[in-house]
Amino acid sequence: MKKISRRTFNKTLSKGLGGAALVSSMPLAACGLNGTSKNQNSLGIALVGLGSYSTYQLAPALQDTHYCHLAGIVTGTPEKEQQWAKRYNIPKTHIYNYENFDAIAQNDDIDIVYVVLPNSMHADFSIRAAKAGKHVICEKPMAMNVEECNAIIDACKKAQVKLGIGYRLHSEPYTQEVKRLVREKTFGNINYISADAAYQSLTNPNQWRLNKSLSGGGALMNMGVYSIQSLIYGSGQNPVSVTAQEFSTRPDYFKDTDETITAQFEFPSGTVGQMMTSHNVRANRLFASCDKGWFELDPASTYIPLAGRTSRRELNFPQESQQKLQMDDFARHVLEGTPNKAPGEMGKRDMIIVEAIYNSIAGGNKKIALDLGHMGITDS
Ligand code: NAD
Repeated sequence: MKKISRRTFNKTLSKGLGGAALVSSMPLAACGLNGTSKNQNSLGIALVGLGSYSTYQLAPALQDTHYCHLAGIVTGTPEKEQQWAKRYNIPKTHIYNYENFDAIAQNDDIDIVYVVLPNSMHADFSIRAAKAGKHVICEKPMAMNVEECNAIIDACKKAQVKLGIGYRLHSEPYTQEVKRLVREKTFGNINYISADAAYQSLTNPNQWRLNKSLSGGGALMNMGVYSIQSLIYGSGQNPVSVTAQEFSTRPDYFKDTDETITAQFEFPSGTVGQMMTSHNVRANRLFASCDKGWFELDPASTYIPLAGRTSRRELNFPQESQQKLQMDDFARHVLEGTPNKAPGEMGKRDMIIVEAIYNSIAGGNKKIALDLGHMGITDS
């Protein structure tokens, strides 16, 4: 006899046939360790890759989400299986490794696979998840190159599953306020916009982020995508050209990947954009100078609380886990058809820009034309 899946179980509950007695037997992971109440159709998420982002951000956030919950894990490290099973009450049947991952197709309790692995593994696991019939959230940067982004998008289309990129800021109130100011032209035309996203790496030259075959590139493939994102949602447009420069001051440490990159963008409205990203600088800011004032976020993309102000007022929004808001937004997109705030096309567009930046540098800082139209621009 097929065991009753949590989804069937919830459907029964939602039809009023289960009753309160059943709720007490709901797995702890489905309720949230913090006791947060879950939507009756709450979707099960399996995290693939249990490194620092899954451990310290995503799994804790999933205890507070309303529309999704932690239902499974996929790990290449056997010791983590026990730790996570105990911590989050995950049954053995919902624990996979990289080899038996495809069997997740038979697990009705898992609706969404969230790929949180080194960049070189994003495409493989996103495509395998889609083939297993699961909706996919893929971490940033979406993949190693545009070709891989296309393959992920195609696989999700073919399997008729939803695809989201882990761009948490689109669900975050300070970023949403910037998007509103831009959409409503509160400060008139934006003449100049700058975005910096960088941190200093000092102690571990052997990490995967500094290994090109695992990361696809250095600062640009890591924090650089935040700078690109900021310029685009901070101006409301895709760029039509980019010119880029690379700086290397610690080549002994950054042997394989880019250390610091700056780039200038032209936008269709005439807005001029400037970005910086680095693994050797501390910076995190978005600033826009407009006809009738200015706005800024500082910090603009950390997951410690953001802050911001405009030429008219200080911005002040409640602080909530960005990852909680992001995963709930994606789950609602799946459940209710609300807009996908960070679709695959957005991740692909950013990868086109990343490739253009590397091409500009390789071509001696030449200007690269971009023909992106409205690719990846979302209203919500
Ligand atoms: P991490 O190094 O902490 O964890 C990586 C995980 O992948 C580990 O569990 C490791 O065991 C596993 N792994 C499997 N094969 C590996 C290999 N060959 N080399 C190294 N690790 C391997 O990394 P992280 O910080 O958790 O980042 C994972 C992904 O999440 C990256 O794509 C990163 O860009 C993204 N990320 C996004 C955010 C965000 O705010 N959206 C924040 C942090 C990380």
